[in-house]
Amino acid sequence: MKTLLSLAFGLFAGATALGANLPTESFGQLPDGRAVHLYTLKSSGGLTVAISDYGATVVKLLAPDRQGHFDDVALGFNRLEDYEAKSPYFGAIVGRVANRIADGQFTLDGKTYTLAKNDHPGGIPCALHGGKRGFDKVLWTAEPREVGGEPALQLTYVSPDGEEGYPGTLTVHVLYSVTRDNSLKIDYSATTDKDTPVNLSNHSYLNLKGEGQGDVLDHQLTIAAHRFTPVNAGLIPTGELKSAINTPFDFTKPHTVGERINADDEQLKVGGGYDHNWVLDTVKSKPTLAATIYEPTTGRELEISTTEPGLQFYSGNFLDGTLVGKGGRKYVHRGALVFETQHFPDSINHPKFPNTVLKPGHELKSETVYHFTAH
Ligand code: BGC
Repeated sequence: MKTLLSLAFGLFAGATALGANLPTESFGQLPDGRAVHLYTLKSSGGLTVAISDYGATVVKLLAPDRQGHFDDVALGFNRLEDYEAKSPYFGAIVGRVANRIADGQFTLDGKTYTLAKNDHPGGIPCALHGGKRGFDKVLWTAEPREVGGEPALQLTYVSPDGEEGYPGTLTVHVLYSVTRDNSLKIDYSATTDKDTPVNLSNHSYLNLKGEGQGDVLDHQLTIAAHRFTPVNAGLIPTGELKSAINTPFDFTKPHTVGERINADDEQLKVGGGYDHNWVLDTVKSKPTLAATIYEPTTGRELEISTTEPGLQFYSGNFLDGTLVGKGGRKYVHRGALVFETQHFPDSINHPKFPNTVLKPGHELKSETVYHFTAH
């Protein structure tokens, strides 16, 4: 009995210790002296994800091809300084409100809030991805965890009342976990002490051939959405939920990203390619398939499932070869795809869009799963 008990205790203690022993490296230091880390999660299926506590950022994502060869499919940098100085949100958690807010303004409970206008597509100013110092630019508190015997990392950030102009102290937890069948899961939760808009997403730039391996125009994409939210010249939704069927926005059946990207289409012109939110057909409390991406030369396939109502698909239109990534290669125009599972852009100014206001006493819960296979 004693042996059984100590064995059981030993196993339990072992499991805890495995969590505590997550491979951890230094990832530099912030100007104020705080240390930044890189934590590596490797699933028993081989999927390997390196995450920094700076921005809760996915820095590396190694997925198998059809030969079982692992490549890093996420764009990023080797140095913290590059993330601080010039990252277009590579791999980061974006918030408090992901995506755009028109004119950096909203009214909530009769009070008007003014945010920093840190973006101006088409020369029209707006607030983007949480502001000048959004959740991608803060240091999160990291705690190694274990989920179903596989490694996980919980990151916590407490955003003070008034930070970046938003009301209420917001406590956010992001749990990254990997699974035996090579999924990366992201569980989001948040609570607040005042009404506030919240929209959380991950901003990983993916190239299933491998980061820095040219453009992504030959990736085949399916999106489980019959409608999208068209935008004005400032990339702000007009409010319409428009049918995508038989337009270049129709990915209900697989199409390559490049097939129609240069079509004579007003929405593609405004976005400089795809930079739009799709209205997902099925929204449930358990993650539902939102998109499938297949890369024919390596055979890598990614299925994205989510509990969120929207999917922003951005085809890396602002990448222009200036940024040089981890492998020393240039990140060319349309050198990556970004799939941001989220609520619709500028929801706070569109009462008909699904609600993004979190209230005290309620908990925001959201889940997205990235499942990698190859065939
Ligand atoms: C947006 C793009 C923006 C990019 C910033 C994406 O989420 O949709 O318009 O330029 O983030 O890197």
